[in-house]
Amino acid sequence: MPTLEKLFHPLTAEGPYFKLICGATFRDYTELSNLATIYTLAGARLVDVAATAEAVEAALAGVRRARRLGSAWLPQPPVPLVMVSVAAEDDPHGMIARRDEDKCARTCPHCLHACPHQAIDPGSLAIVEDRCVGCADCIRACPEQALQMEYLAFGDPLDLLWDAGARALELHIGAGDGVDAWEEPVSKWSERGGVFSIALNAVQLSPRKAVTIAKKVAKWVDSPILVQADGQPISGDAGEESTLAAIDFAAKLIAGGVPHVQAAGGTNDQTGRLARDREVSLVGVGIGSFARKLVRDVRGLGDPNGGMSEALSRARRLVASVAPGQD
Ligand code: SF4
Ligand code: SF4
Repeated sequence: MPTLEKLFHPLTAEGPYFKLICGATFRDYTELSNLATIYTLAGARLVDVAATAEAVEAALAGVRRARRLGSAWLPQPPVPLVMVSVAAEDDPHGMIARRDEDKCARTCPHCLHACPHQAIDPGSLAIVEDRCVGCADCIRACPEQALQMEYLAFGDPLDLLWDAGARALELHIGAGDGVDAWEEPVSKWSERGGVFSIALNAVQLSPRKAVTIAKKVAKWVDSPILVQADGQPISGDAGEESTLAAIDFAAKLIAGGVPHVQAAGGTNDQTGRLARDREVSLVGVGIGSFARKLVRDVRGLGDPNGGMSEALSRARRLVASVAPGQD
């Protein structure tokens, strides 16, 4: 049986790894594939996508393109694992925004200006569901309370995701009430050789409860697991303030005896440095909204003769901020 160490080399390599988080509800597969290409070339070791076969296939297509381009841009980059994220009904990672037509004034439109992910149609103001990552910025901006979060009930069976090429599974467990229902599918995933990660967020879980869940879940499988410490889920903000919650939460999990902790949620280009300064030994850092926004405005993202060079330069700086040794 393959072990985590054999499949997941970053844990045995020096220094923390970079994980690209594309978003558990993000299904713009063209952009997803482009992101996978850029961040594979930049040295990402994990590409975390929605739990659909199409998302896995798009990520792998992006990785393959990166491998083809690799010799032109860089020494051949490592091949990242594709991770699928599934979320409990009460976890913010499984939510997208919905608009109540009766309450919407349509004249603002504060929601449109607030959305950092181009997930609101400028003409109709409809939520573009495939692009919505559930950050809730539009909800905070709406003066009419016309927007609300709803759980997005999708996700292909794990067998199908495995067959599509996913080799890592991350479970966002919300407040943790339904975690036990995952023991059997997670055990099966691990027996096949898949990497398993449990994502615990500081908004819904106290450090004590998070440590308890992490230790319980670790007993489900024979291989080591990853534990994601989510500070501010889906924040994507810049600066030190945004990322401190994730580092603080990670530090508390580590102090509680949890191994293999990666930070996410509010993570950005400051996370790696701050973790090093505070001597918080992370195995990795997952960066989502900040990483996506960093390269989104580059023209010709999918065109190696267009904006790829600039996008790659930005992505490499971000990856190096987490793992300076890979620069
Ligand atoms: S901010 Fe609220 S009321 Fe204004 S357009 Fe958006 S959903 Fe409608
Ligand atoms: S602001 Fe966030 S929650 Fe609202 S539509 Fe955009 S991505 Fe979705």
